Amino acid sequence: MRSLLEREWLSRYPYERHVAEVGNMIQEAINEETKSTAATVIRRVAIVGGTHGNELTGVYLIKKFEQFPTLLHRSSFEAIPLLANPAAVAMNQRYVDRDLNRCFAREDLSNPALATYEDKRAKEIAAQLGPREQPKVNVIIDLHSTTSNMGLSLLPSSKAPFNLRLAAYLSRLHPEVRVCCGEQCDQDAPLLRSLTPLGCTLEVGAIAQGALDAHYFQQTEQLIRAILDYIDANNKGQPPSAPRTLTTYQAIASVDYPRNAAGELDAMIHPQLQHRDYEPLFPGAPLFLTFTGETLPYPGETTVFPVFINEAAYYEKGIAMVLTEKQEITIPDGA
Ligand SMILES: [Zn+2]
Repeated sequence: MRSLLEREWLSRYPYERHVAEVGNMIQEAINEETKSTAATVIRRVAIVGGTHGNELTGVYLIKKFEQFPTLLHRSSFEAIPLLANPAAVAMNQRYVDRDLNRCFAREDLSNPALATYEDKRAKEIAAQLGPREQPKVNVIIDLHSTTSNMGLSLLPSSKAPFNLRLAAYLSRLHPEVRVCCGEQCDQDAPLLRSLTPLGCTLEVGAIAQGALDAHYFQQTEQLIRAILDYIDANNKGQPPSAPRTLTTYQAIASVDYPRNAAGELDAMIHPQLQHRDYEPLFPGAPLFLTFTGETLPYPGETTVFPVFINEAAYYEKGIAMVLTEKQEITIPDGA
């Protein structure tokens, strides 16, 4: 039964109606093959936004979910919205003192000497959602945007079969969904999402920092709905059918910009590479362009698939792009 507010919302916005239809379809799409393997029961889900204060898609989706909580309601579990870094949001900056999404290493959370604003927020969030050993939520969905042309990218918190099945389901639902596994794709990563093994980061873009993009706002909300519907159906023993294989982009290395002795940039992303996230980069293909117009080719010997190309927030991290390998994996049974 939908609330009055939600019904009104659905009548006003046709895309929401489409999502509702998709939601009904997945309820009906019971796949006997995956039914026996999806025994994971989810009781609490955290939807997190504003981990980076200038990534407004997540910030405004959390505000919307706080205003219309029925949008997150499902009968078999509780979903809670969380604005992770309110001080950075108020300043429209990525962070106040340091990147909150690098503050969740085990040793940092247990180190009382670390007391920047973000270190304190990380400890509060870990107390609210964690700890890793016995988290208070089963699933964390962390909403981010990127200035790179990464479409709807899903970065699973681990390679648990549950995450991979969900990713395979979403990949089939939305052609723009791609699945990217970080170099550290487990709970040892210092990321907010690492508090639980189940869940993912959504990286959506290209979106400028400090700006909203209505198309991607709606796409991100649609993905969240699909995730919640999937979990609900899964909890009820009726997991929607999902492909048994999944294309993933496994991070293998990051590449910094060419820099001078003072650390200043010597080159830019080559125009032929700009916006080409997830496309093959062949050995010898243009990588960077110097300020005097010289093309610097990719020196690697194998074809790779770069992502986070020209991500604005990564200049300070010494990352011009992240190189991935494209892999086809078969999803194992189990949780
Ligand atoms: Zn972010």
